Amino acid sequence: RQAYFRSDLSLLLERVGSGKESLSFMRRRMRRLAAQWAAAARRLDERLRSQYRVQKRILVHVGFLTEESGDVFSPKVLKGGPLGEMVQWADILTTLHVLGHNLKISLSVKELQGSLGVPPGRGSCPLIGPLPFDLIYTDYHGLQQMKQHMGLSFRQHRCHIRVIDTFGTEPAYNNEEYATLHGYRTNWGYWNLNCKQYMTMFPHTPDNSFMGFVTEELNQTERFNIKRDKVNNMAVVYGKEASMWKGEEKLLTILHRYMDIHGTVYYEAQRPPEVPAFVRNHGLLPQQELQQLLRKAKLFLGFGFPYEGPAPLEAIANGCVFLQPKFSPPHSSLNHEFFRGKPTSREVSSQHPYTEQYIGKPHVITVDFNNSQEFETAVQDILKEKVEPFIPYEYTCEGMLERVNAYIQHQVRRSWPGNPPSPFLQLPNSTALIWAPNITAPACWPPLSGLRLFLSPEASSCVKTCQDAGLICEPSYFPFINSMEAFNGLNAQCESLEAEKNHVFPAVHVDRRECFQQKEPLLFSCAGVSAKHQRLCPCRDYLYGQVALCRDCL
Ligand code: UDP
Repeated sequence: RQAYFRSDLSLLLERVGSGKESLSFMRRRMRRLAAQWAAAARRLDERLRSQYRVQKRILVHVGFLTEESGDVFSPKVLKGGPLGEMVQWADILTTLHVLGHNLKISLSVKELQGSLGVPPGRGSCPLIGPLPFDLIYTDYHGLQQMKQHMGLSFRQHRCHIRVIDTFGTEPAYNNEEYATLHGYRTNWGYWNLNCKQYMTMFPHTPDNSFMGFVTEELNQTERFNIKRDKVNNMAVVYGKEASMWKGEEKLLTILHRYMDIHGTVYYEAQRPPEVPAFVRNHGLLPQQELQQLLRKAKLFLGFGFPYEGPAPLEAIANGCVFLQPKFSPPHSSLNHEFFRGKPTSREVSSQHPYTEQYIGKPHVITVDFNNSQEFETAVQDILKEKVEPFIPYEYTCEGMLERVNAYIQHQVRRSWPGNPPSPFLQLPNSTALIWAPNITAPACWPPLSGLRLFLSPEASSCVKTCQDAGLICEPSYFPFINSMEAFNGLNAQCESLEAEKNHVFPAVHVDRRECFQQKEPLLFSCAGVSAKHQRLCPCRDYLYGQVALCRDCL
């Protein structure tokens, strides 16, 4: 059946239900953004008119909200707990609904069992017969619950699962055998999924799919009003919990010389939070009121935590400059408690690397907060600068609909018998190889027409190598470049060629000129990096403002 865009959210709102603060938060958000979603659906519908979009049967099982996983979030919604997840799930549900799919929502293990056709009261009874869904969106909690309740059929059906995974999971952590043997085993990883099945909140490593969320957009009147009402010397501090402000008195005092400082720190009536007396604290605000505050403010200031939340994008969308600390050395699972045990080695270069790398000046200023002179100069510069509201296209409703639609229609499991052929061509004046245009490329998504193949410098990941060439690493291309032709084409000067399981292969050893192919497809990795190897890196172009999609992807 064909999927038709929906602009009415009432059925969705009914299905989400209420009764828990987390669900009410999501419903409020859905209602508030309804007009924005409808307008985006109309625009995308226009653009995709000629495409036949298949309607999928989709189960959304939100594991972290189930009582069985402890539902630690719902009681915290009104107390400044992590709202980012709630924002993202609300937007995922809305996207799937608006795209016109057949949606079932599950918020308890009982509902999960009911949806999967597992007889009640028989916890681990295997699912009998075919899976009644084409796709299942869940999180790590839900994945665990599904494994428990689907029995053996979990393995058989796991390619239909998509895991919403805020910070991402890298291939070395995902492959159970490799993770166990090489010290990448964590509490979360080793599910042996295709890493594209993990969907992240920001475009971290392209080994995963970028799911994202949306930022509220402004209409003409709101844009006009923002320009009129901006208060040049008003700052809002990013941090709903008093702990996020600890130890920052010195910087706050500097800032206070130039600006009035506002906060939205949660507090209980008897115990006001410990923020300096000159800060005007509003308490935790409903999202809509926070937006109003951001519309007036000139500066949104982060002190380093929380990492990579939605709020800085909301601030930038409302015409604020986001000032944030650079992390030197970068934070990662190796040196920071927060990331410890997370299935990624990603190095986080600032509080919000996405805004640093993809947005930058004048909207985002990243400086060393240990250097108070640098901090003060940044504040002075911000006071002088006029900044327009800005939202990257991928964080608009239309951008999210476009991206998720492309995933749903095109991301399907394909396996290649052995290594597929890889005929390459060198472009004049280029260090990269492309797929030979006159040779029919195997059907693949993203299409192979976008492939540019590079040999990385030593100690550089393919994420970085492709980025430096203005491109993005595309892990789906790895099977096509895991070949001698690819090494030869790039003049890797191989003394020998072997196949091994290693998350940096295919690569060439820098001193010994030994070339290595990848033996385990699950270990193909954009993120992998080794001081002793130069890696073969498959890169592709991407659309301006929509890094998940290539020019020929739509
Ligand atoms: N938020 C809110 N009221 C506040 C502060 C934040 O509703 O007083 C919302 C904000 O709009 C954002 C969400 O909380 O969408 C998540 O915020 P944050 O960036 O702090 O990420 P988190 O750590 O909660 O995931």
